Amino acid sequence: MHGTAFKHIAVVVSRAIGKLPGRQLQLLFCLLMGVGSLPAQEFSTTSNFQQAAYKELPLGAIRPKGWLLHQLQLMRKGSTGHLDSLHKKISDNGWKGGAGDGWEATPYWLDGAVPLAWLLEDDSLKQHMMKYINWVLDHQRPSGYFGPLTKQEREGGKAITAADCNSGEDWWPKMVMLKVLQQYYSATEDKRVLSFMTKYFRYQLQTLKACPLSKWTEWAEARGMDNALMVQWLYSKTKQPELLQLAALLQQQTIPWSRFFAGRDWVINAATYQNDVKWMTRHGVNVGMALKDPAVQYQRTGDPRYLQALHTGFRDLMTLHGLPFGCFSADEDLHGNLPTQGTELCAIVEAMFSLENIVAITGDTRYMDALERATFNGLPAQTTVDYNNKQYFQIANQVHIKRGVFTFSLPFDREMNNVLGMRSGYTCCLENMHQGWTKFTSHLWYGTQDNGIAALHYSPSVVSLKLGKSQTPVTITETSSYPFENNIEFEISTKTTVNFPFQLRIPSWCNAAVISINGVKERTEKGGQVITLQRTWKNGDQVTLELPMDVRISQWGGNSRTVERGPLVYALKLQETWKQETDQHQGDYFTVHTPDAWNYGIVESQLKQPTTSWNIKTVKPVQDDFAWDLAHAPIEITVQAKKIPDWIIAQDVALTPVTARDGLFMGRVDAQAETITLVPYGCTKVRIVAFPVVK
Ligand SMILES: [Zn+2]
Repeated sequence: MHGTAFKHIAVVVSRAIGKLPGRQLQLLFCLLMGVGSLPAQEFSTTSNFQQAAYKELPLGAIRPKGWLLHQLQLMRKGSTGHLDSLHKKISDNGWKGGAGDGWEATPYWLDGAVPLAWLLEDDSLKQHMMKYINWVLDHQRPSGYFGPLTKQEREGGKAITAADCNSGEDWWPKMVMLKVLQQYYSATEDKRVLSFMTKYFRYQLQTLKACPLSKWTEWAEARGMDNALMVQWLYSKTKQPELLQLAALLQQQTIPWSRFFAGRDWVINAATYQNDVKWMTRHGVNVGMALKDPAVQYQRTGDPRYLQALHTGFRDLMTLHGLPFGCFSADEDLHGNLPTQGTELCAIVEAMFSLENIVAITGDTRYMDALERATFNGLPAQTTVDYNNKQYFQIANQVHIKRGVFTFSLPFDREMNNVLGMRSGYTCCLENMHQGWTKFTSHLWYGTQDNGIAALHYSPSVVSLKLGKSQTPVTITETSSYPFENNIEFEISTKTTVNFPFQLRIPSWCNAAVISINGVKERTEKGGQVITLQRTWKNGDQVTLELPMDVRISQWGGNSRTVERGPLVYALKLQETWKQETDQHQGDYFTVHTPDAWNYGIVESQLKQPTTSWNIKTVKPVQDDFAWDLAHAPIEITVQAKKIPDWIIAQDVALTPVTARDGLFMGRVDAQAETITLVPYGCTKVRIVAFPVVK
């Protein structure tokens, strides 16, 4: 996502070398990229725990407002508030003593429903969540083991002890439940959580040699960094040294993601070999989760090579597999950067959670930009407004939503992977999608290590916190319809004056941000940094952040072009025809088609116009009932385009037309240019977002 020139080279190279055999391909790629085949890098494993760049705020300190509040209210009314009555699998589940799901489904849901209850201060949802939390806390075994009763416990009456961990079950779903409990603690400071985790982690340290992460499933082995993240979170509270020992052991037993990210062969191989060899290392959801691995390891060891590995790995991933809406292909595997590949919803919400933690640990603005890109583009495009239906795989250039095989690495599953349904595809996304918006909300603001506050991701919200050396209670209200408008107002409310640093992120896409205090222009700043306003603040002080949004053109797979403005990417507006259908096994679902033509290339001269001459219109104000759909799309950009008559659907997708080096499509094009309309990608269900260019 950074360095257009680099991406351009990489895209061209990856296309040109597609026909070469594997080893030759790797050598050629490394030669062209100016890197040797890197030896497996040796990272430090010695503990040297680092203070995070930013402190996460207690759950509930940040409250959503405006359109974001409405988004969370829609989720409460829909599946997030009611999944255990809508989804049979978790209706009588093992996580509160029932006979149903004892694996990941229930913890996944709670991981988004628990923060929702506290973000909305919804007492009834809180009480509902407490049934699960109390059951889990009350049923920890004397050994420290926790979770639903295991088969051996139920049938053999066998206790799970540190001496006999074999009667336990999969480590993986417990990793998710730890995230649930951590958020619950963050909201309530219920001390039971700290002793519960301390006991469980002691059990893990005692048993992981005999019953390693890989004992029951490959998922636990792929996802151990999430377990380590929670261990290190507890360490930051209790400072018990054996916790760092456990975190190191967990990472030893986890797929060596940081080495993969640093070594580069992994991401190249993933672009080349879509076979079943080591597919867990290419599984998109695993990769989204694994992004945090280098940051978690950096925090424990202080070895800066981990941060370099993250930088290299993330850039490589987005170059070879990145898509305009801010995530990588994951259908289910990493599958190259063509805008006709799919992305699983779980990959988006997991990548977001990784980025939220990476931001806290590293303070690096690149990951803040990346989080907003995924949140404001990819995330809303994949669910229905009522939050009851989702696509297992979304496609960037998606000209219809329907049953079909498409060009996915996991193609069949009753041809239901692309439709919008509650139970279509696999239901992991139905269970896991709730953490996307909720955790984004609880990570809009962070605390600084010097008693200040940082607005690192923007959306309408209000934050309350004790600030300054004096620890004075302060409330800051953020008013804006960002990401759709470029003005953000902050109003400070405090009983007494208080001196504290107030940090603001200037996104990298912004050339010159203007910061005013109480209507007086204070400074102008360039993008790609976090700035600090250090002063004595008084009640009613107002900070205005203006982030001018110029049109930008970015380049994507198949030498295509995307129109961007601010944090949003824009897609062709197409009328939608929705139809409800039913599958015998997977229930009701929707298809979406369009009667409109979609086969447009953008006219080259349009792309060369100065950004100031683009026609951008606010067609609808963003109000508190905003929803991410076509009817509410607030901004339209009109562009000159021509039809490409031979660009038709093949294999269910709009295969990207081949273009010459300069990006121009050389085939037959309509003589007449037409004006087409682009709207924010997140408001669309059918669209083109990665366009060919025509003369
Ligand atoms: Zn999923």
